This record gives sequence, C-alpha cells and structure tokens, in this order.
Amino acid sequence: MLKKDGHTHTRYSHHGSQEALSDYLDKAIALGFDEYVVTEHAPLPTRFLSAFNQPIAARYNSALTKAELPIYKKLVDDAQQQYAQRLLIKKGFEVDYLPGYEEETLKFLKEQANWLDEVILSVHFLPNQAGDLAALDYDALTFEKYFGLDLVDPQALFQRYFTAVLASIELANQTNMRVRIGHLTLIRIYQKRFKLPPFSADTLVQIEQVLQAIKAGGHQLDYNAAGFRKPDNGESYPTLAIVRRAIQLGIPLVYGSDAHQVSDLGQHYDEMQNNIKKYLDLYE
Ligand SMILES: [Zn+2]
Ligand SMILES: [Zn+2]
Repeated sequence: MLKKDGHTHTRYSHHGSQEALSDYLDKAIALGFDEYVVTEHAPLPTRFLSAFNQPIAARYNSALTKAELPIYKKLVDDAQQQYAQRLLIKKGFEVDYLPGYEEETLKFLKEQANWLDEVILSVHFLPNQAGDLAALDYDALTFEKYFGLDLVDPQALFQRYFTAVLASIELANQTNMRVRIGHLTLIRIYQKRFKLPPFSADTLVQIEQVLQAIKAGGHQLDYNAAGFRKPDNGESYPTLAIVRRAIQLGIPLVYGSDAHQVSDLGQHYDEMQNNIKKYLDLYE
C-alpha cells in the first residue's frame, strides 16, 4: 500500500517552524512515504481579514498572505520537479470554510482548480454566541475568551460546529472537486481543559448526517494526527468511533500528519493505519 501524508504545512502558515520544504520532503522520504500533499492554508478572504477584530496573530498568523500565494505555488511546483524520482508530491491547499464568505471561497477554488491536485476543507472559525466568527484552534485562552459562554451548553456548540461542517460540504458540492474534510471533531481540541462531554445522541445524529453528506458527495475524510500532539486533546480527528462509522460507510480516510514542523511528520501513522485496517476487516 502507498504510504501517503495528505495534510502538511510549510513555513508559510506562519504558526509553525521556519524549516524549508526540502527538509520536510527529505524526512518524509526517510520515513518511507511514497506520496506527500502540501496543503498550506489558503489566503483568507480580504473582507474577512478586514472585519476581524480578534487577536491580531490569529488573523495574520494563520494562512498564506495573498502576496505569498505565487511564491508558495512556485515552491511546490519546483519541489515536484526536483523530487520527481523520489516522492510523489501533490499540490494542495487547506481552505477555510467561513460561514458568510462562501462566494469568496468558491471563487478561490475555481481560480486554483487547474493548479490544485487535492484540497482540504476545514472549519477553523465558528460564530460564537455574540455572532463573531472566532478562531477555534488558535489557543485555549482565545477559545475561552470567544466561546466561554458556549461552554455552558457544549452540545449546542458541537452542533453549531457540525452545522458549519455540513455547510462546507454543500459548498464543496457546488464545485466539481472532491475535497477532504479536515480534522472533523476539531471542536474537541481543548476537551480535557474544558472537560467537554462525549457527543450526545442528538449530536451523533448530526455527525451521521455529516458522514452521509461526505459519502453522497464522493468526498474524503482527513484522518488527522494533530490532536495527539495537543495536551488538551489526546486523540485523533475524527475520534475513533467516527473513524469506524466512516469506514463502515465506505468513506475513504487519508492520513494527515498536519505537520507544522518536520518532527511532526509520520506521527501515529502505524497506529492510525492499523485502525483503518481493523475496521476495513470488520466491514468488508
Ligand atoms: Zn486545519
Ligand atoms: Zn492543517
């Protein structure tokens, strides 16, 4: 089986390390990867950036800038040529689904369609009780500041998150692209710190709708290792029960290290691949 990392970053995410792309690629080869998708955070819509009134770092340190876009694309193009004999490099973005900014996002996807090999669609910003689109995964203090009131009713917060994910799938369906839904269950990122409960029966019904929509649209799931690295999380995205159900439904899961530094590459690969195998055996 091909060993693939479908979710990786570069120094252009501005919140990882400054290591060169070639350092990541050399490490991936050393770890035995055959396929490597570079999925830097796509530039956020200008209208979103100018409306954003939260920590300035959460705004600028979360994606490529528009000015960096051509530099990033050339970096990946050049790497693809340079490593052609050693590693199958694919060109990608991790694109934000931002409620209220669907038009800009669709436009970006259409503009990049000819260059893009693979796209991850992720929800990192969610409306809070005050109606602000706030960063979910910037840090725990920012989460507490913007979603503190929502923690009184975590299931309502979970459901608002999955509503956004469902809308992201509907957006993807408006293109002819197959997308990979990024780190489903990111809403649990600080679950230990805020003592988040398991998903309730109602929330699970909604998660089932999300999985059915992924399946119906022919999309994929990002099986993301980043949660293991977060001391406040400690598990994969999505959580294991969702991985199991997704496999039962025949949804393809693609391992993603979500590396923001070279040392993140390959983490938990064997364990996660074994989970996939175990559930495939169960349902095939
Ligand atoms: Zn992400
Ligand atoms: Zn990512």
